[in-house]
Amino acid sequence: MTPPEDVTSKEYDVCSYNPPAPPQGTNLVANYPSHTFPSVGSGSVEVKFRYSSTYNSQDWAEQKKINLDASMEPLLDSFANNMSYFSRLYGNNGYGNISWIGHIGGAPGTRRYTYHNVGRALDVTWIQWTGGNASNPQVAESEVFDSNGHWRPTTHRRLVAVEAGLRKWFGYVLNRYIGCILPPTECNGEPLEGPRSSHHNHFHVDNGCPVALRVDRESRIRLDRTIRSCHYFIQDCINAFTDVDVDYDGTWDAQTDRAYEHLLSDLGMECLNPIKFINHYMLFLDYIMMHGFADKPAGTFRWGDKAIL
Ligand SMILES: [Zn+2]
Repeated sequence: MTPPEDVTSKEYDVCSYNPPAPPQGTNLVANYPSHTFPSVGSGSVEVKFRYSSTYNSQDWAEQKKINLDASMEPLLDSFANNMSYFSRLYGNNGYGNISWIGHIGGAPGTRRYTYHNVGRALDVTWIQWTGGNASNPQVAESEVFDSNGHWRPTTHRRLVAVEAGLRKWFGYVLNRYIGCILPPTECNGEPLEGPRSSHHNHFHVDNGCPVALRVDRESRIRLDRTIRSCHYFIQDCINAFTDVDVDYDGTWDAQTDRAYEHLLSDLGMECLNPIKFINHYMLFLDYIMMHGFADKPAGTFRWGDKAIL
């Protein structure tokens, strides 16, 4: 599957996010199987999907109920193949190919119209690498910071690289500080944002929005989760890969703006505009994956200095 056309993302600045009604979910692939992906290099990559019964448990089962809409299949194929490719090329021995992807199964709730209910969303809890290591937000929560509150770059960089991989194919990605969408009274006491948010242990991905880097430089749309999730992602990239630390708060302030330009400059991309152009964004995500899997600071690979394929 090829990435989106190089169009401006202006029309995607705000995604009208309206999940279809559940009865439309007639195109489901029941019991989504393991897949063998053709590899970019030699051989092929088999990626299994494993299910656990709750977000925090690791009682993995190979085949459990997951009903995915057919539209998700090429996206997951592309994600897994692309991630394995970058990890194999740039990662160390503890990583390698993706071995399996952990998820939480089918729709966790049916009270509302959600992309889960029509099989167009997946809650990704775990990426297991063939080298033995894993990437998951739960581990990162304790490992992103050491006991003194300092960043631990390796785990953090890998996790950001995984998120970059997801963002290449899924237009709606919620990361670890994005919380419950329901009115606060229905959120079981979960905070709307922060380290104890409802997404602290998984990435929610769905195909309800076109792929784009949605940034609100004036922070007008404070509660739009897609935009704030993009802000968190960029702040994660800055903190993981540059020598600048910005507040991880989901707000695109002047500090974040400066640091973002600094990150682009480190990557040799000062002439690119990933916010405006989808293909520039794709390139940016590729470079975040390269740096994340190589566990290197921004600038180790610079656009124009080194071909990526
Ligand atoms: Zn979800």
